[in-house]
Amino acid sequence: MIELRSARKAYGSTLALDGLSLTLARGEITALIGASGSGKSTLLRSINRLVTPDSGQILFDGQDVRSFKPEHLRQRIGYVIQAIGLFPHWTVARNIATVPALLGWPAARINARVDELLDLLGLAPAQLRSRYPQQLSGGQQQRVGVARALAADPEVLLMDEPFGALDPVNRQALQGALAHIHRSTGKTIVLVTHDIDEALRLGTRLVLLDHGRVLQAGTPAQLLMQPASPQVTDFLAGNGIGLQRLALRKVADILRPAGDGGGVGGDVGGGVGGGVGGEVGGDGSGAGSGLEADPPAPGTAPVPPDLNLRDALALMLARQVRQLAVADGQGRALGVVRFDDLLPPLLLPRHHGITP
Ligand code: ADP
Repeated sequence: MIELRSARKAYGSTLALDGLSLTLARGEITALIGASGSGKSTLLRSINRLVTPDSGQILFDGQDVRSFKPEHLRQRIGYVIQAIGLFPHWTVARNIATVPALLGWPAARINARVDELLDLLGLAPAQLRSRYPQQLSGGQQQRVGVARALAADPEVLLMDEPFGALDPVNRQALQGALAHIHRSTGKTIVLVTHDIDEALRLGTRLVLLDHGRVLQAGTPAQLLMQPASPQVTDFLAGNGIGLQRLALRKVADILRPAGDGGGVGGDVGGGVGGGVGGEVGGDGSGAGSGLEADPPAPGTAPVPPDLNLRDALALMLARQVRQLAVADGQGRALGVVRFDDLLPPLLLPRHHGITP
């Protein structure tokens, strides 16, 4: 869908893009992450020609972006930024209709599209379409900004820290709205974010940049479980990623029979989580009697096997216990999860591959 070939962009002696090559596939949400100044925005803005690389090539749908008229490119590529840039003297409806109006859509089609987008972003059309931007909350304004970028149904949505200025509640709500839009439209989205939680929540692919180069590109699980270099490990560690790794795995992955003395299980610290399944329930019948011998503290409800390990850790800390009983939906004891067993999945693996 989008391909950068040896793209280079210098500002004085700073290389914002250092011969960067990267392919962004159709239908993915690619989250660009990396330290401030690593080149994320420059990369994003080179896709819609707000930035022109000094050398190298950027292809959109197989064609060099320089061969498009900028306005044609921007009809096919929506752009959302943190400073929303709504026109203050235009109503919400007119703001959203900016590109369709430029394209000469008939009024009825524009109105229908505005209402459809307001609905999609959880904004009541009847209440909000005639308001002016300053009559909206920050979260509502940002939703209108996203609606405007989607108005002419672009193939690609570029988003530069789109939710960075919002409070956590609004940010999560808009992340949810974006995930919904992605699921329902399959749109290709490229998202710049400094928020690693946001990147992991939304990104189907992550691209970690450093000084205008790609340190690693891959699925979230690949970056978390197979960091390609010590720099990747350092970046992830510096962003509290151990806890993120815990969130990817389930209690069922490190379940022990109750009463187990704590010997190291061979499979602890294995691959990415997700192995919640019937076989765990099978072990459970045997574990039941053991639980009676080593009961959890009284008054502590057992947890389900699909609870993620980050939540399990939080619960242990809240309850001031070193283990939690695990039971299935029918209340049948399956075993226990122990505090000590949380450590291996918390640790980042040593990097794989060769240092660049
Ligand atoms: P990021 O989005 O990762 O924070 P940017 O792409 O904005 O990084 O910037 C990459 C580098 O290029 C930084 O060192 C930044 O200061 C520099 N840079 C970006 N845009 C400009 C510009 N218009 N003029 C001068 N330097 C710039």
